[in-house]
Amino acid sequence: MKVAPLEPTPEELERLTRDVVEFVLGHVTTLAAQPAHDLDGAASVTASFRETVPEHGFEIADVLARLRPAIDKSFNTAGPGYLAFIPGGGLYTAALADFIACAVNRYVGVSYAAPALVEIERTAVAWLAEAMGYDSQATGILTSGGSLANFSAVVTARAARLPEDFAKGSLYVSQETHHSVAKAARLAGFPAAAIRSIAVDARFRMDPDALEAAVRDDASKGRVPFLVVASVGTTNTGAVDPLRPIADVAKRHRLWLHADAAYGGFFRLADPSLTDGIEVCDSITIDPHKGLFLPYGTGCLLVRDRLALKNAHRVSAHYLQDVVGEDADAAFCDLSPELSRDFRGLRIWLPLQVHGLAAFREALREKLALTRWAHERLVTIPSFEILDAPQLTAIAFRLKGRDDDANEELLRRVNARKRVFLSSTRIRGRYTLRLCVLSFRTHLDRVSDAVDALREEAEKV
Ligand SMILES: *Cc1c(COP(=O)(O)O)cnc(C)c1O
Repeated sequence: MKVAPLEPTPEELERLTRDVVEFVLGHVTTLAAQPAHDLDGAASVTASFRETVPEHGFEIADVLARLRPAIDKSFNTAGPGYLAFIPGGGLYTAALADFIACAVNRYVGVSYAAPALVEIERTAVAWLAEAMGYDSQATGILTSGGSLANFSAVVTARAARLPEDFAKGSLYVSQETHHSVAKAARLAGFPAAAIRSIAVDARFRMDPDALEAAVRDDASKGRVPFLVVASVGTTNTGAVDPLRPIADVAKRHRLWLHADAAYGGFFRLADPSLTDGIEVCDSITIDPHKGLFLPYGTGCLLVRDRLALKNAHRVSAHYLQDVVGEDADAAFCDLSPELSRDFRGLRIWLPLQVHGLAAFREALREKLALTRWAHERLVTIPSFEILDAPQLTAIAFRLKGRDDDANEELLRRVNARKRVFLSSTRIRGRYTLRLCVLSFRTHLDRVSDAVDALREEAEKV
């Protein structure tokens, strides 16, 4: 009997690691050849995992062999053909960072416990803040994603602008705002009636005059307007709200201005004019697992006034008396809902160290150019109606004069080829297809395939 089955010998560790590396490289190096999605037979693979926990373990090779089909039967969200929703990333260097972070398992909630590692995360957050045009007074937290960043943003705005009894508070979104903001508001204790949805213009951007009118209307009825959420890249069409005019309204009425830039924020690295005014917002959600090509589980909330974030989140506890003190200002656990968590900072810092920021700027510029390229071609197909010229890297379109069923049929046909994977939405009440270019692995050949597939299949619908 092994004395310590949870502590493999160095030789065993090496073999386990080698088997996993082989498994992962076999997958990652063949991504471009894999289908863009594959759910054929997924039900039986899924069913094979409904089982009781093993009392005794198996060989890792056998476990990995079972995992392979579970990975294959899915949307290939890391592959070049994934043009659906808002594509994620999956940089390999970020996976290596996670491997290191989990293996060393250091605690990064407070500086005292791992000063240099916390500095790495703080530096990574500072880089992101600087990239958004914030100065050194800003701070931020790494979250699991944009939804949790939006949640902490709503809580921060609530604490900064409303009294303890916040029942009269009203917040403002547009008709195109991501649903995670409404979810955040609900989790933060606001009823649905506290959320006002503001009309958008012909290019799906929030109308600042309509915002002004709604705020005045609410205030005249005894409500307390406290927060407006502007989108920097809506999910449907990639629309960027007019940040400066919205900031004027916010200033006039003392509203907290939050930018949901989960999708669009990182395009600032490619071209600052795309996110003009983001730097005047009180807080910003960005999603490194979208525009910085990192794996899922990497979001970020940046706040211009560091005290506001701390005031909203900090609660003291006696059993933490050893670890607070001179660095309390910077303790991540005082700035976020989390105490213990993974070392997300390394997942940002290491890829930036290895690749350099220029590689990311270049990749983002490529995505913008690919989208313009696709748009130029799609507008020449007479059967298509394009809803807007791309503001970022999303294009929404439909078959002109055809019903929802025909459009749904087109999406089904294009996706059935499995070279690319697109998704759909409803815009102004009608079924609409979307194409969104954001994976660092997507290049011209694949976008060209998407356009060809759309042109050819449109003729058959
Ligand atoms: C993706 C997205 C979110 C939600 O972020 P998650 O990381 O999926 O939680 C919020 N807002 C916008 C605009 C998004 O694109």
